This record gives sequence, structure tokens and C-alpha cells, in this order.
Amino acid sequence: MKKSSLKDSIQFVKGVGPKRFQLFRKMNLETIEDCLYFLPHRYEDRSRVVNISELTPDEVSTFQGEIIHSGATPLGRRRKIYEVLIEDPTGTVQAKWYKFNSKYMEQKYAVGQKVVVSGKPTHGRSAFAGLEIIHPVVDTLSGEDSDSLETGRVVPIYSITEGLHLKTLRKIMKQVVDNFAPATEEFFPEDLRRRNDLMDRSKAFAQAHFPDPDVSGADLDAFKTPAQRRLIFEELFLILLGLAFKKRLAGESSDGVPLKTRGETIRKFVRLLSFDLTGAQKRVLTSIMSDLESARPMNRLLHGDVGSGKTLIAMVALLTAVDNGFQGALMAPTELLAEQHYLNLHPFCQEIGVNLALATGTLRPKDRKIILENVEAGEIQIVVGTHALFQKDVRFKNLAVAVIDEQHRFGVRQRETFGKKGPSPHVLVMTATPIPRSLAMVLYGNMDVSVLDEMPPGRKEIVTKLFFQNRRDQAYQFLRGELEAGRQAYVVAPLIEESALVDLKTVQEIHQQLQHDLFPERRVEIIHGKLKKEDRQELMANFKAGKIDILVATTVIEVGVDVPNATIMIVEHAERFGLAQLHQLRGRVGRGGHASHCLLVAYPPVTEEGKARLETMVKSSDGFVIAEKDLEIRGPGDVMGARQSGLPSLRVANLVRDVREIETARNEVQTLIEQDPKLEKPEHQKLKQALFDVWGDGMDLTNIL
Ligand code: ADP
Ligand code: MG
Repeated sequence: MKKSSLKDSIQFVKGVGPKRFQLFRKMNLETIEDCLYFLPHRYEDRSRVVNISELTPDEVSTFQGEIIHSGATPLGRRRKIYEVLIEDPTGTVQAKWYKFNSKYMEQKYAVGQKVVVSGKPTHGRSAFAGLEIIHPVVDTLSGEDSDSLETGRVVPIYSITEGLHLKTLRKIMKQVVDNFAPATEEFFPEDLRRRNDLMDRSKAFAQAHFPDPDVSGADLDAFKTPAQRRLIFEELFLILLGLAFKKRLAGESSDGVPLKTRGETIRKFVRLLSFDLTGAQKRVLTSIMSDLESARPMNRLLHGDVGSGKTLIAMVALLTAVDNGFQGALMAPTELLAEQHYLNLHPFCQEIGVNLALATGTLRPKDRKIILENVEAGEIQIVVGTHALFQKDVRFKNLAVAVIDEQHRFGVRQRETFGKKGPSPHVLVMTATPIPRSLAMVLYGNMDVSVLDEMPPGRKEIVTKLFFQNRRDQAYQFLRGELEAGRQAYVVAPLIEESALVDLKTVQEIHQQLQHDLFPERRVEIIHGKLKKEDRQELMANFKAGKIDILVATTVIEVGVDVPNATIMIVEHAERFGLAQLHQLRGRVGRGGHASHCLLVAYPPVTEEGKARLETMVKSSDGFVIAEKDLEIRGPGDVMGARQSGLPSLRVANLVRDVREIETARNEVQTLIEQDPKLEKPEHQKLKQALFDVWGDGMDLTNIL
């Protein structure tokens, strides 16, 4: 078949036609190729079909049979229930619906109809009645089309638009895949495919839509099967390759400062540490140091979960600047975090003889002026601060390294402003829960990314539990137990004043209740963003020293606070917090050798989204999983704004889920360009064509290649 046929309209595939074609267009599916790239968002394993006699209560199973009775029966005085009795050679089972449309049911479930049923059997009311299944998923099989599409296999589930049935779409997809997947051409050179273990393109399309029964269900759901991985890699590779050429057209920026790494200051610093670096820290530092040695300014995102030891990485980068006679800046999202960073780093800097200063928005004008003068004069070697550092009046003498901590609080624009202070500094952005926007920067902004995927040894798991308002007492009962064991606690409240949302418990109210009613014998203190810096620092110092038992706080403690003896956190009104925020908050506990707890207290009514967020927190403690869920719950939208900017948007890959593939693909792009800078070699011609195909008119690739 000709390659061009992939660009043919889907309208002429059997079963589509002009009317359905409109529905396909709604889903951005116009051509055969669009459909091939439209992968199922999940799969259902119906490959194991059991006999009715094998059904076990409470176990979701799939079986096949014939309807031998069908009809509505009264349930009480007003309601009715629809019952369908299904039989196979080994027995019968009853299916029941409490909500139904009689006419539809009678038609769909006529006696004699063959069906495939998927559901969870339970024991019926009476012991003699046998098993029943409430509201099962039923596929009716009609004669010749009782083929293997709906049963006896792993079944693809596509996201559909209203008016289009999943079964219909599945049938059309099967045709598209059977007829056109074999016609797709492999365009990756052999060596690249071998290195990355990439499945052949035709096979990948076929397997991604209709997987073989022996493919792991877990891998499928995680989009990690060879077929899915191949298509994800292909998409990312073509985008990155195009961007690389585009960048070459714009001219590679090389106005950064090449720094000598591993110098004396770094050595001194590392000797002061009381622990060994984790393997991941060493690996990440190797990448960062090679960035710093280059005249191309570093532009790197570091993802490391809460507690993975990002500060140390930041410190090495900053000290490298100092070692070369330049300045470094560390920027935090909140005043408190900036202060904590300052306090943490201060002893090291003093020991090594590095001049460190804190420059936040709350400084007295006089102090601020002095600090700013010293920054400009180059007296101060490392500045720690918040947004204040962005303000125009901060001028560095020679800023070479800028580190931005917990980027999820910043917009990308702020980041850019920061990047423009003085000659282009090396920029490192650190985050625990990557947001799609920053990952979009990784892909489209050609940012490098490193992952700290190893925790320092001895970390204890944090157990997260959800309490609704009516069980709030139990949460505090638990907290009491921890205090009695000598531990300390955080209680987080969402707001500082009653003004915004009157029904929210304010910090003051909670503090009042804890100090006076629940824990009169304990020291309970309150900390929030509106306190004076000195007061806040004193509170934190006292908490760290164990003089305060319970710290009631607003989200100022969200990031950066490090008190190992604090083992329990209660989050009030947890339903109001975003996922990333909750994850950051939770990271404040579990920092010592003791088991730790995070108790979420939710106040009804809780929205569906809110419930999904809370459940995610209870189930997962992995920042990346949480970021992925967040994306799922909120929906991705056009996060990267790719559509407007003429960049190819993602059809298969997912920025959060596939961030590691971005790195792999980027490395391969680099290798390819070094081998064949203009894609002239015969073995790269198909790839070049694929590149033009993907980028269309989005850029002037023909001028470069
Ligand atoms: P985050 O990535 O959340 O910013 P931090 O940098 O604050 O994490 O590190 C959390 C804690 O782990 C700190 O107390 C830090 O001193 C400690 N830490 C960092 N690296 C190591 C390591 N390699 N071994 C042991 N402890 C470490
Ligand atoms: Mg941190």
C-alpha cells in the first residue's frame, strides 16, 4: 500500500461515513494516521473467560452465556427491578438492574440473546438463589460478529465523544489497525532501534491497540509495554529533533560562564557533611558539573521527591560559582523557606568562609539597602531570597549560578526574568512535584532534566490517613499519643483570616481550641506568613529545639522546614488543598528515624475532585505519581500552549508520565545530529521525511536541512 494512504480521510473507512465522521472530527481524528496514533487510554483484561460454575463471590470476572429469562419485576410498592437470567453449560446466574429503561432492556436483553458479561458476583438475598450480579457490563453478541473483539482478549478502552459508542469505535479501530498498521514504515535507523530496544513501528501500532493476551496488564496501564514505549519515544524524538534544528537556526547561545568544577571550596563543603552522598546525588551532580563547565548556560530541571536531598545539590552548584570568583543566588517561593535555607546553609558557609546573605521582602529598608549594595559590589557571594530578588533594584556584580527551589510555585515568566540578571547565569530549577508547565519547558523549551530517584538511607514511610469531620477527634487522639511518646506535631490550617472563606477554621481558632481545650498542658504555637521575620525565626528555632509541642501553621511550612522529631501532621480542611501542596506539606514529617503520620481531615461536602485528590494522597507517596494523578484529575488541557505556538502537540506521550523518555530521546537526538548534522546519510532519509511530516509548516526545516 502507498504511504500517502495514511493521510486519507477516515471518512471512507467501512463503518464511518459522513455522519460519524463529524464525531471523529470532534475528537481531532481526521485521517487514518490520526486514528493509529489515537491510543486507548486504558485496557480491560477479558482474556480469561470463566464458566458460570467457576464464578466466585466478590471477584470481578468475565463469562459468556445465553439469556433464558428477561423482564422487570416489582420491588416494593413503587419500584421495579430488571432481572436477566443467563445460562451456560455449567449453570445460571442472575443479573440485576435497579436503574433502567424497560423498553431498551427488553430489546437489548431478549431471550436467546448471546452475551458476554463482566462484573462482580455476590450472594443473593436467599441462600438458594445462587449468585447475582448487580449492574454488570454486558456486551451482546450478534451472530457473525461474535468475534474476538469484545471478549477472550485484552480489550482497548478509548475515550469517546457523545454519540459514538465504544463498541463501534473499537470495531472501526480494528479495521484501521488491521488494514493500515502493516503499511506504516519504519523510519528509525537500525542501530538506534537496537540501542533503545524499540519495537518495529507496524507491530507497535497493532499491539498498542489490540495487545496480545500475554502482555502484562500493569505495564499496559502504566504505558510501559514495548509497543506503547516505541510510539511514545517516536513522538518525543521527532519533536526534540525538530527543536534541535530550530535552535541551530537561531544560533546556540554561548554567553554563559564556563566554570571550573570540583574546586577547593567544594571539597571543603563535602568534607563537612556527616553523610555520604546517595548514588542519585552523585549522578545528578556529574550532569550538573558538566553543564557548569560549558559556556552554554545550564538550563536544567531537577526533580527529586520531598526529602531526597536537593539542597545539597543546590549548594554544590552555588559554591562552584563562588569557587570561580562569581556569585550564586538561591531563590525560594516563601519567606519562611528562604529563611530556613539561610539558616541551614549559614553554618556551612561560615565554616568554609563564604559570605552568605538573606535578602527577603521583609527586610528593613536600611538593612535591605546595605545588603543590596554588598550584592552589587560582589561582597556577598551567595544570596538567598524570595521574589524580592527579582525586583529590578537587585543587581549582581557577577551572577553565575541561579537556583530556583520548588518551582511549582512560580510561573515560567518569573523564571525567565531571573535568568536575565547580568550575563546569562546557569539556571537550576528544583521541584518535588513537577507541574505540566515546567515539564512542557523540559520538552519544548529544551530544558535538561535530572531525577533524584533515591532517598537517603533510613527514611521511614509516612502513613497517610483520611478522617472526615465526624471522626476528627480520632485524629487528635492519635496526635496525643505521639506527643506522649516525645514527638512533636504540625497542624496545618488553610487560611489566616476569616475573611475569604468564612466557614473555614482559621489558624487562630484551631490554635485556641488546641491550646485551651485539647492540650492545655502543652506548648502550642502559631506561625503564619504575616508574622515578623524575627518572630518567625524564633518560633522555628524553638520548634526545632523541641520547646514547642504543636506548631499550628498556615502553608508557610509547605516547603523546606526540617525538624526530624516532628512525626505527625494534621491537615485541616485537606479537601481545599491542591495535590502538589498536600504532598509538599506531608514531606515535613518522616524526616527522622521514627515512623510518621499524615492525617488529613476533610469537611463535607467534598467534591468528586476533592475526593480523588484525598484518595491519591492516601494511596501514594511518590511525587511523580501524584503529579500524574493531578494531571489526570484536572485534565491536561493544552498545557504547553503548543497548539497556538505551532509546535506539534502530544498525541501519545504524557509529559509527567514519560519524563524519562524525554531524556533518552534527547540523548539520541544529540547522537544523531553529531553523526549526521544535515541528515544526509541514506539510512536517515525516512527519518527526515517523518520529521517533515510531523512538523508540517510549523517551522522552516527545509531551510536548514
Ligand atoms: P529536599 O529534596 O526535600 O529539599 P533536603 O535537601 O531538605 O530535601 O534534604 C532532606 C534531609 O536529608 C536533610 O536533613 C538533609 O541534610 C538530608 N540528606 C540529604 N542528603 C543526604 C544523604 N546523602 N544522606 C543522608 N541524609 C541526607
Ligand atoms: Mg527542599
